Amino acid sequence: MKKTVLLIAIITMVLISCKQKVKSDNPLLNEFETPFGVPPFELIKASHFMPAFLEAFEEQKKEVRKIIANKQAPDFENTIKALEYSSELLTNVSRIFGSLNSANTNDSLQAINLEIAPLSSKHRDDINLNDTLFQKVKSVYENKDNFKLTEEEQKVLEDTYKGFVRNGAGLSPEDKARLRKINEELSLLSVRFGQNLLAETNAFKLIIDKEEDLAGLPEGVIEQAASAAESLNLSGKWVFTIQYPIMEPFLKYSEKRELREKLFTAYFMKGDNGNDKDNNEIISRIVKLRIERSVLLGYKSYSDFALERTMAKTPERVMDFLGQVWNAALPVAKAEALAQQELIDREGGNFKLQPWDWWYYTEKIKKEKYALDDEMIRPYFRTENVIDGMFYVANRLYNLSFTKRTDIPKYHPDVVTFEVTRDNEHVGILMIDNYPRASKRNGAWCGAYRGQSRDIKGNMIHPVVTMVTNSTPPTADKPSLLTPDEASTLFHEFGHALHQLLSNSTYPGVSGTSVARDFVELPSQIMEHWVLEPEVLKFYAKHYQTGEIIPAEIIEKLDKAGKFNTGFTTIEFLAAALLDMEYHILDQPVDINIRDFEKRAMEKYGLMPEIKPRYRSTYFNHIWSSGYASGYYSYYWSEMLDADAFEAFRETGDIFNREVAGRFEKEILSRGGSRDPLDMYIAFRGKEPGIDALLENRGLK
Ligand SMILES: [Zn+2]
Repeated sequence: MKKTVLLIAIITMVLISCKQKVKSDNPLLNEFETPFGVPPFELIKASHFMPAFLEAFEEQKKEVRKIIANKQAPDFENTIKALEYSSELLTNVSRIFGSLNSANTNDSLQAINLEIAPLSSKHRDDINLNDTLFQKVKSVYENKDNFKLTEEEQKVLEDTYKGFVRNGAGLSPEDKARLRKINEELSLLSVRFGQNLLAETNAFKLIIDKEEDLAGLPEGVIEQAASAAESLNLSGKWVFTIQYPIMEPFLKYSEKRELREKLFTAYFMKGDNGNDKDNNEIISRIVKLRIERSVLLGYKSYSDFALERTMAKTPERVMDFLGQVWNAALPVAKAEALAQQELIDREGGNFKLQPWDWWYYTEKIKKEKYALDDEMIRPYFRTENVIDGMFYVANRLYNLSFTKRTDIPKYHPDVVTFEVTRDNEHVGILMIDNYPRASKRNGAWCGAYRGQSRDIKGNMIHPVVTMVTNSTPPTADKPSLLTPDEASTLFHEFGHALHQLLSNSTYPGVSGTSVARDFVELPSQIMEHWVLEPEVLKFYAKHYQTGEIIPAEIIEKLDKAGKFNTGFTTIEFLAAALLDMEYHILDQPVDINIRDFEKRAMEKYGLMPEIKPRYRSTYFNHIWSSGYASGYYSYYWSEMLDADAFEAFRETGDIFNREVAGRFEKEILSRGGSRDPLDMYIAFRGKEPGIDALLENRGLK
């Protein structure tokens, strides 16, 4: 009797475990029994990640094997959809790991990150280069008209197919072998580029031992230089490096022209000094290999390859865009140079303006003109008030409500959590984590512990979104008071958060912010337009002690100062963006001399000698080692989009126009990457974007 009961019990358990997972002692492998399925942070230990990753790889491999073994003719359901949902666990674990490793890291998480990177890339390659799998995907793609697919499904199919092709799945075995060799060499070259750059950046130090050489520098800058000297056992001296945040204030304030020249020259010669850390040959080789790789994959140039899946689509369109902005900005930059030369002459300088003078004279002119400094403004930008301001905007535009919740797990006490609702229906969870700490990386970003999508049965999965900044923290006697830039950053990240929260996709691969690189900053940057609108400031920019609303003359000064020196910032940026394009539109794998190439490229556009490109070739990290090759333009492209899109609101005379907001949500925010970005934009705006609003905002008209 007992035996029978036990047997039945075992059978039942086996049956249940077929349907439902046995509860694991690893919380990452269980359903989260928390409000809204937020990760149970207090239960998750670093030691849980590695086993969870390995399990997730296994699970996806098993699903892929099932797809391959399926004897039925490949169709959307049994191939593309099955593949799309095969990475559910892997995506969940990766999202939690990635978010924690950025916002609240420690030595264990960092060690796991190093260990997991090569395993992940091998796992991806095993899937991407699997020929049987590719043949099935290809068959679905070629027969797509036989399946009744929604627009979103067509996009998922195309993304999947293109993903395989762009990784070389369609090549002959010999070409695949060559591709692997090129990939391997390219990845080594980019690591060497980065190591040289780091070594060159660290090699130079400007050591000052006479107090008079500090003339003009603010107290804080001097203190920092003194403590830098101390850490190098150079007590009593001052050390400046060519790291940008250290160099920039020196260029801005130092009255010692020859020292500015020394520091800035060391900066713009990085990687170009003919020593063993020289990057010229490495770059030349990278350019050549990229061309070979692109041609092998069937593209005319690297740019054609890189831009295919973006909004701009072709190198011609990017060049045309950059050229238009360049032509508008160059005369403005020349006028700015003239104003500086006049100041130099008035002061009896008797020299011609040079690149290392620009920051110094700009700062002088700015002070004369605007008499504005951040400390005057901060009291009106208390963090809590700025957050109220951005919630107010989201409420006016999208009818969203935000309720603070204290019953939801958090990964750090600084996190503030909100439930987002609309008409009393749950939309998602928003976590905000604002202040710097040792466990957080620099900068600001927005991510999701869980993205919006629908599960394989079609049930809605609501997003759990996190926005992280490094804003000015509160002190013992003052709350956190932000600069206008920091307030803008909050609105910016909140824009990404709205893109996640208002996403309404079915498939996880095209939901939320999974969009082209030159489109992803539209939802974030457009939010920055509301931050200084008088109507919005009236609501939130109240003095933290007196409650007084920010005075109109400060707003006006802020607006004008925002348009100052934009000829320079635009030209400096565009010169680098054009240089990036010039390398990547080449279609012949020939050896090039980098110095000559750069010089001729800049001459072609008529770059003025007083301005250096924001990045010269030998230290242009974005394009040689961090994924922005033929993509540096996207920062300004996005600015064109957000400026033009905000015009759609302004044209109606109402920056809170519900009809326009509704269209922005329907055509852009809710769609994620489920449609071609240009089509989405035109559906919202009724036309392609133009550069007028961008030029207007930058004061270049
Ligand atoms: Zn952004």
